[in-house]
Amino acid sequence: MGVNVSEVFGQNVFDESVMKNRLPEATYNEIKKIMHEGGDITMDIANIVAQAMKEWAVEKGATHYTHVFQPYIISVGAEKHDSFASLPTDGKIDNTFTGKDLLMGEPDASSFPSGGLRQTCGARGYTAWDVTSPAYIKDDTLCIPTAFCSYTGESLDTKTPLLKAMHAVSKYGIRLLRLLGNTTSRRVLSYVGPEQEYFLIPEDLYEQRPDLKFSGRTLFGAMPPKGQEMSDQYFGDIREKVKKFMSDVDEQLWKLGITAKTQHNEVAPCQHEIAPIFSVSNVALDNNYLVMNVLKKTAKKYGLVCLLHEKPFDGINGSGKHNNWSLTTDDGINLFKPGKEPENNKVFQLVLACLMSAVDKHAVLLRTAASNTGNDHRLGANEAPPAIISIYLGDQVGDVVDQIIKTGKATSSLHSGVIDFGINKLPVLEKDPTDRNRTSPFAFTGNRFEFRMVASSNSIGDTNTVLSAMMAEAFADAIDALTGAEDLDKAVEEYTVKLMREHERIIFNGNGYSAEWPVEAEKRGLPNCKSIVDAIPSLVADSTVKMYERFNIMSKAELEARKEILFEQYAGVRNIEALTMIDMASKMFIPSVVYYTKELADTAIAVKEAGADASTQIELLNAVIAKLNEAKAGLEDLKKATAKAQSIDDNQEKAESYKSEVMAAMAELRKPVDELEMIVDKEVWPVPSYGDILFY
Ligand code: ADP
Ligand code: MG
Repeated sequence: MGVNVSEVFGQNVFDESVMKNRLPEATYNEIKKIMHEGGDITMDIANIVAQAMKEWAVEKGATHYTHVFQPYIISVGAEKHDSFASLPTDGKIDNTFTGKDLLMGEPDASSFPSGGLRQTCGARGYTAWDVTSPAYIKDDTLCIPTAFCSYTGESLDTKTPLLKAMHAVSKYGIRLLRLLGNTTSRRVLSYVGPEQEYFLIPEDLYEQRPDLKFSGRTLFGAMPPKGQEMSDQYFGDIREKVKKFMSDVDEQLWKLGITAKTQHNEVAPCQHEIAPIFSVSNVALDNNYLVMNVLKKTAKKYGLVCLLHEKPFDGINGSGKHNNWSLTTDDGINLFKPGKEPENNKVFQLVLACLMSAVDKHAVLLRTAASNTGNDHRLGANEAPPAIISIYLGDQVGDVVDQIIKTGKATSSLHSGVIDFGINKLPVLEKDPTDRNRTSPFAFTGNRFEFRMVASSNSIGDTNTVLSAMMAEAFADAIDALTGAEDLDKAVEEYTVKLMREHERIIFNGNGYSAEWPVEAEKRGLPNCKSIVDAIPSLVADSTVKMYERFNIMSKAELEARKEILFEQYAGVRNIEALTMIDMASKMFIPSVVYYTKELADTAIAVKEAGADASTQIELLNAVIAKLNEAKAGLEDLKKATAKAQSIDDNQEKAESYKSEVMAAMAELRKPVDELEMIVDKEVWPVPSYGDILFY
């Protein structure tokens, strides 16, 4: 029996209703105003809120509090826990939690990547309460969502730039809407619903694979033949566990105020997906971090391990995070909603034109924001969107855009009609005007865009920072172009046509997985960065710096730092992978195969001595020895390539060396080892196979 969502939902969240109950009315009104409209929080208010928050948390059994923040690119987030205990007076200890404790924290920032922004000797970093994302209780701890910056004010996290970008898109969105005659909306909110994919595998098998433990993905492993016979009993048990795991996850997330809906994903064996209902970007960011955290922790309870890596198994579909995104005003106008007559919806058309120009202009930046090292194994493979950014609009909106581009005006739109099963007991269903396109990285899905490129283990902070910032910029440009126009309607139409014509190349409604698309994309001049290493420099491209500085989202120095961090991160991840491979090959695979060759040789001798034909044994022995020699040579090459990459100082050059030479050597070592796995007795193979882990 599962729990009733309506009974537990939001139980552990200090949300608006709790505030309303527990705060003096004036304070509640003030804090609500700051949450929705911004403004400074005085220490007086912070003290009152902190007092109420502490009482609520202690009643719920919390003993500690922490500022939660997300250091740049470390998607698991960070926390430093303090207890509520005050200094003892007269032998008594009180629970204390002051306004200052709520407003700011000072974690030791020196162990987080700063890309040179902060020297270890100047390790100060500050966390500041993000009033717009509610505090919650997790494992006896009151958690306060915060933004994280350095002593000198540079952002060190993924939250701060996002909050600034959200502010910018709201400000310029409203200005544009005002210009177009809207008098009621006061804010533009960016909403996100991230669908999170993950793998669940048995913990005992995971423990036997150093590659999974150290790098999150298998670095060796032959594909099992389909239909491989597995221990059904064992996996039947796992399936029961997965069901229990999912209800457990749901319950925890509901209590944290996260609307989770879990489902089995059919694509890969052992792969699942969880999607909450969408929320405002910064809250979605905090929630997604919690989702990843709860998935990982809960899996352990059931003897499972949750893998968030983008590509845990070669040859098997990887994991992504689909970032469903829309811009909606505070009074409910969804700017991406075409309405019943998209051909007459001039605001929608203008916003769409802005989006086309923004995506085209910042394609590589978007690709970078959505990516990490692991995503390199996914993008462009036959399962995930390609590394080329394009927009899919579907039939209806695609046709409207076509008309505008061709004739300067849309006069009609396609209507989808109904699906009639032809059985009078089944209802006649109204069709969606857009079909799905699962091969597009940026797909219109009726009232939102689904950005499908995001890496499964990545924070969604960067992605949504770019999305909001690029729209703020496009809106600001539109305002500049339209302000003072004599005939506004005409100016809007002309500007829409101009943008759509200029950026037509970004629209692609075909199959993104086809071999023709990269060729066609190249003709169109669309960038195709196969590796994140090639995409990272987009962080400091003129177009990026100009956009971020224009809206005070990030300075050039902050962007330079982030570029360095990403290169460091890439090299760091590949270095761990290479060392893990070296370790596994030297200590596990080669010794096991050497042992096996002795077995084979002994057998061959025995067979021969018995007077029988040992040619099969000898053939096998020779084949194994040939692969063994290849593996040994591959191991030595990988050692050399890794040592060379390690010796490079410049972050970019280093990352490039890992990307080309080390990765090539890794592949060279993997090949003979995987081939050996296919011919060596399973009994002597030192790690569980793909078949053992995945198929049931
Ligand atoms: P599907 O399964 O068709 O892809 P879902 O209903 O699972 O769609 O939705 C996927 C995600 O998109 C969910 O997190 C959902 O809340 C989110 N979503 C729906 N509408 C919007 C919107 N207007 N803006 C942002 N996200 C949205
Ligand atoms: Mg979806």
